[in-house]
Amino acid sequence: MGKIPSDIEIAQRAKMKDIREIAENVGILEDELELYGKYKAKVSLDIFKRLKDKKDGKLILVTAITPTPAGEGKSTTSVGLGQALNKIGKNAIIALREPSLGPVFGVKGGAAGGGYAQVVPMEDINLHFTGDMHAITAANNLLSAAIDNHIHQGNSLRIDARQITWKRVIDMNDRALRDVVIGLGGKANGFVRQDGFMITVASEIMAVLCLSSDLMDLKERIGRIIIGYNMDGQPVTAKDLKVDGAMTLLLKDAIKPNLVQTLENTPALIHGGPFANIAHGCNSIIATKLGLKLADYLVTEAGFGADLGAEKFLDIKCRFGNLKPSAVVIVATIRALKMHGGVKKTDLSIENLEALDKGFANLSKQVENIRKFNLPVLVAVNKFSADTDAEINLLINKCKEFGVEVALNEVWEKGGEGGIEMAQKLVEIVDKEESNYKPLYETEKSIPEKIEKIVKEIYGGDGVEFSPKALKEIKRLEELNLDKMPICMAKTQYSLSDNPQLLGAPKGFKITVNEVRVSAGAGFIVCQTGDIMTMPGLPKVPAAENIDIDENGVVTGLF
Ligand code: ADP
Repeated sequence: MGKIPSDIEIAQRAKMKDIREIAENVGILEDELELYGKYKAKVSLDIFKRLKDKKDGKLILVTAITPTPAGEGKSTTSVGLGQALNKIGKNAIIALREPSLGPVFGVKGGAAGGGYAQVVPMEDINLHFTGDMHAITAANNLLSAAIDNHIHQGNSLRIDARQITWKRVIDMNDRALRDVVIGLGGKANGFVRQDGFMITVASEIMAVLCLSSDLMDLKERIGRIIIGYNMDGQPVTAKDLKVDGAMTLLLKDAIKPNLVQTLENTPALIHGGPFANIAHGCNSIIATKLGLKLADYLVTEAGFGADLGAEKFLDIKCRFGNLKPSAVVIVATIRALKMHGGVKKTDLSIENLEALDKGFANLSKQVENIRKFNLPVLVAVNKFSADTDAEINLLINKCKEFGVEVALNEVWEKGGEGGIEMAQKLVEIVDKEESNYKPLYETEKSIPEKIEKIVKEIYGGDGVEFSPKALKEIKRLEELNLDKMPICMAKTQYSLSDNPQLLGAPKGFKITVNEVRVSAGAGFIVCQTGDIMTMPGLPKVPAAENIDIDENGVVTGLF
C-alpha cells in the first residue's frame, strides 16, 4: 500500500458535481434550492410541505466506544457508510454536524471525515461554510447586548446582575475570554458586571436551532431562554427582553439545512453543531428529518462515545424530533481498545492481544448500553494501518462470542468500497431486526431519579452524589416547575465514569454532579460532572500555525 495523502490533499483532488445535480438526484426541486456558490446550497423548509406524505427512510446512528483523544473515526465511518450504501445500490444520505472554528484552529484541525471518506468542499465546510455559526453568534450576542442595555436603561425587569447566566459567545478557542468584566469606562458604558464568553457551539442558541422543528418553534424556544433571575429569584427570559423576534430573524437562513456531497458524490446534509458536553452533540432535527424524507437510509452521528453522544441522541433528540432509529453502528478501533486494556499511547503500534482482550470490556458495555434502548447494533472496526491480522481476528471473534454483529471498516483507506461488508450487514440487520426504540427514562421522573438511571444503567456506576449547589438548583427548578425535562449530561468523554483516568468499563464508582442548570429554550437540564469546558483554550502549538493559503488560493494544513 502506498502512502495515503493527507485529508486535504485527497479533498482537493475530489471530482465534485454541481450541487444542483446532487440535489436533483435526491428529488430536491430547483426552487427548493438556495445556492451558495457551485458546491453548497441551503434547502428551503418549504420542501417539507411537498414531501409531507412521503414515507420516511431508515435512521441509522453512528456512535463509538469511549474515545481516545484522537477521535475514533465516527465522522469518517458515517461518511464512508453513506458512500458504501450507495455503492450497494441503496439510496443513502449523510447528516453531520458543522465544524466549529475553535477545534479547527486548535487541536482537531477540521471535522469533515477523513481519508477517502470525507465531505467536500472541505475547506469551506471547516471555515465559514454558509455562515450559520456567525448567525448563531450574532443572535446570542444580540441577547447579551439587550440584557446590558436593559439594565443601563433603568432595569424595569429588575434583573439581578449577579444572577445573569447568559454569556456572550465567539466561535474561537480563546481562554482569555472565559471570565471578563464588562461595562468599564464610566456611566455612559453601562453597569460594570462580570461576564464571560463561551464558544458558539456551546451556546443554547445552537442547541435550540438543532432541536427546533420549524421557524416558529425556533422563535418559541428562543423566547423561553432563561437569561438569569430577577431580584425575587424569578426567571427572566429572552421574550421578557422582547428580542426573541429579532434573534429568530437573524437565524432565518441558519435554520435551513446545508447540502454538500462526499468524495463519491453522496449527498450530505451538514447542519448545526452543538457541543456534545453542555449540549446534546448532534446535527439538527430538521436536517435529519429532511434526509429521512429524501433517502431510504439516513446515516447520522452523535458526538463522543455511546454513553454520552448516543444516550443524548436517543433520550433528547429522538424524543423531541419523534425520531425512531432503526439501528446503531458502534465504531471501535483496535488502538483505542488496547488503550482501554492498559497500553500507553506510545506503544499502540505494537501488537498486544492481551490488552485488546481486556479493553473489549469497553466495547461490550457500549453495546449493552445501546441495547437498553431496544436497538440493534453493528460494530464497525475502523481499521488502522498498524492493526495486525491477529488483532483483527481476535476482535471479530470476541464480538461474535458476545453475540453482536461486526464488520471490518476500511472506508478511510478505500472509501465506499472499503465499507461494503459494513453496509451489507447493516441492511441485513435493519431488514431482519425490528427496532422498538424506547428512551431510557421518562421525563416525568424527578431530576435525581433521571440522573441516577443514566449513571447506573449507562455508565455502570453505583450512584450519584450531588453538591450542595446542585441540590439547591434542583429545588429551585422543582419549584419553578422546570424539572420535567430530559437530562443533558455534561461529563468527560474519555471514561464511562466522571474521571478521565478510569478506562475500560470501570466499576464501583459514583458520579458527582457539581452543577445543574436549565436550558429552558432547548428543553433540557444540563447536569455538570467534573470540570466542563464551555470555552476551550488553544494548545501550545495550535493547528493554526500549520494552516496557510498560497498565492493560487491553495489551502494547506487543514486535516
Ligand atoms: P470522530 O468523528 O470520532 O471524532 P473523525 O472521523 O473525525 O473522528 O476522525 C478523526 C481523525 O482520525 C481524522 O483526521 C481522520 O482522518 C483520522 N482517521 C479516521 N479513521 C482513520 C483510519 N482508519 N486510519 C487513519 N486515520 C484515520
